[in-house]
Amino acid sequence: MADKLRIGIMSSGGDAPGMNAAVRAIIKSTLRAGAEIYGIYDGYMGLQHPERGIVKLDSSAARGILSLGGTVLGTARCKEMMTKEGRRRAIHSLLTYEIDRLVCIGGDGSLTGAETLRTEWTEAVQALMADGSLPEDTLEKHPCLSVVGLPGTIDNDLCGSDITIGADTALHRIVEAIDAIFSTAASHQRTFVVEVMGRHCGYLAVMAGLSTGAEWILIPEAPCPDGWEEKMGAALAQGRAVGKRAGMVIIAEGARDIHGKHITSDYVRQVLIDRMGEDTRVTILGHVQRGGSPSAYDRNLSTVLGREAVTLALKEKIEPSVVMGIRGNRPVAVPLMKAVEDTHRAQKACTDGDEAAAFRTRGEHLRRAYDLFKVVNSAGVHGATPNPKRVGIIHCGAPAPGMNMAVRTVSRLLIAKGHEPIAIHGGFDGLINAKLDSLNWMDVSGWASLGGAEIGTAHTVPSGPELYMAARALEDHKIDALIMIGGWSGYSAINCLYQERRDYPAFKVPMICLPASIDNNLPGTDFSIGADTALNVIVSAVDKIKRSAVANRRCFLVEVMGYECGYLAQMSGMASGAERIYLHEQPRVAADLLRDIDDLKEQFAHQGRTVALIINNERANPIYNTGVLRAMFEAEGKGYFDVRQAILGHMQQGGDPTPFDRTLAARLSSYAVERLDQILAEGSNICGFVGSTKDGMRLFEFHDYERLIDDQYRRPRHQWWMDFVSVNEDLV
Ligand code: ADP
Repeated sequence: MADKLRIGIMSSGGDAPGMNAAVRAIIKSTLRAGAEIYGIYDGYMGLQHPERGIVKLDSSAARGILSLGGTVLGTARCKEMMTKEGRRRAIHSLLTYEIDRLVCIGGDGSLTGAETLRTEWTEAVQALMADGSLPEDTLEKHPCLSVVGLPGTIDNDLCGSDITIGADTALHRIVEAIDAIFSTAASHQRTFVVEVMGRHCGYLAVMAGLSTGAEWILIPEAPCPDGWEEKMGAALAQGRAVGKRAGMVIIAEGARDIHGKHITSDYVRQVLIDRMGEDTRVTILGHVQRGGSPSAYDRNLSTVLGREAVTLALKEKIEPSVVMGIRGNRPVAVPLMKAVEDTHRAQKACTDGDEAAAFRTRGEHLRRAYDLFKVVNSAGVHGATPNPKRVGIIHCGAPAPGMNMAVRTVSRLLIAKGHEPIAIHGGFDGLINAKLDSLNWMDVSGWASLGGAEIGTAHTVPSGPELYMAARALEDHKIDALIMIGGWSGYSAINCLYQERRDYPAFKVPMICLPASIDNNLPGTDFSIGADTALNVIVSAVDKIKRSAVANRRCFLVEVMGYECGYLAQMSGMASGAERIYLHEQPRVAADLLRDIDDLKEQFAHQGRTVALIINNERANPIYNTGVLRAMFEAEGKGYFDVRQAILGHMQQGGDPTPFDRTLAARLSSYAVERLDQILAEGSNICGFVGSTKDGMRLFEFHDYERLIDDQYRRPRHQWWMDFVSVNEDLV
């Protein structure tokens, strides 16, 4: 028997960006655990041709692949797996290499294949021993096959995981394309039909719709009722009537009508030409959606899941097989066949035209996003309420990409409920100086994709006489409630108004904060609007910086923002394969730094390292700041490596919001308006902040604020992502 445990790793089915990040994490974690790892090339085809399809891997196989799209292991369809003989050959191949643990990255087909190998294992091994193909003690040595699946499919169509590897990157590609198409469509007043992937799942279409100004989406979960053509034409015509310069329909490739008839993008185009008499073009995005470097989210998702998969695979026995998925931002193992069966149930519900069952099986998240899309992306829903209120919308703090999407969604949802959104321009200074005006539906048109803060923001936290002026302004402008979309200063400001309620009755209106800060340092939420965009900006800059090194022995020191909150440093470091990540949360003394330098010297001198990356949070250590670190690394590393420093600065705050930030902004806004509407109806005056947590959306009240925050270091007391610190440390 092999001295060490052996894991086989493969990718199969359609490739997905992020698969390589998973492969890297799996190779590194396996080797670190003292086990052996074998790459199975070209999916199950590698098991049919083991002589070239199975290769023992060492740490060099994990080098330089984190940022690559596709899969370095290759993938293929393999029809031999559909026959008993082919599967027996696959089992024989595994056992020839004494592999009895398999990590398979793929969709429902690939995972089913792995499960079949597990269930047929005993019978196949007995037969192979009986005919002399395997030694007689094989079954004793390898009584079972342990299977851990990782969900790898850009469609996000695998039940059991909130999101699959590759879906976030695919959304990046789609949304970039739609943003680009919008600009040309608007110039010519054209209508576009954009076809996205998703044979059985409308996730990409819905999230792309929600992230952009598209007006209509067609998805497999919601079969089109009779007469849909007329409704779609009318909706687009209405858009034109209210002043939209471009029309956009997004269609998932598996869209159908209630009779099960497939709807093609060309048919939609013809409908629009016939009904609107408009120049209409079709863009089929196709394989662009699969391509390119994985997003920061996909890299981290794959890294975390890959490491967890190895921990499981090295256990004594896994029965039944599991899929390592993500639920509420935490890795969870779910029974593999349940995930596959639920996936098939959802697919069947789609083909049967059973909308309720399709959405139920997919999870509430998709249904809510679809419903939200239908309201905010329409040409206008003007609701009525017996008790309409004037709701002020204000920013406070630095701009964060996605803030505009939040203002757009909040104001449209308020209008849809019959309330009046009032933009307060330029933060609390704007409130005091009476810079307010009412927002109508089309005022926020085109804001979904815009970075920055259209209504303006400032850091001012009112104090002293400003409190009086702010109270006067709220009364003068008859503001019945306030929604603050912003960062630490915004939360401090609202907390201040809350604390001053006794002296200033004007502050006794309901007030709700939405987290928007690239630092992701706000209480009550796992993610704040803007942080994902900043992360992607950092990661793509670091990719370029690393590539610039080519053949030089070079150590890069990259400083990222975050004040004393290490989220951006930790997550960008993990997504770009940093050798060290310095956080304020994890203080380091000089001896630690010197040890790190010694490690690097050893690696550069004897282990073939050519480039190293250190990510330093801007306030990780006020004394050993980036400049001092540079001097230390330069002095101590002389002769072993050169040092280059990069302080990324304000580029981290800019850029167009990523799809993640856009949909996060939309979902937080929807929840906030829903809760505010209830609060207004009940006549209460809750002051709180909303967040996206592992248990879903939640509203916290300000009387809990001080308990949840570390005021000195401007960050939450508990930071969920600190669990990932050890992930990165294990993988360097
Ligand atoms: P995905 O994993 O993306 O769903 P496929 O459905 O094409 O992709 O499956 C990939 C491969 O997995 C197939 O080519 C086949 O080798 C194997 N496979 C799929 N379904 C089964 C099955 N029911 N039994 C055994 N192997 C299967």
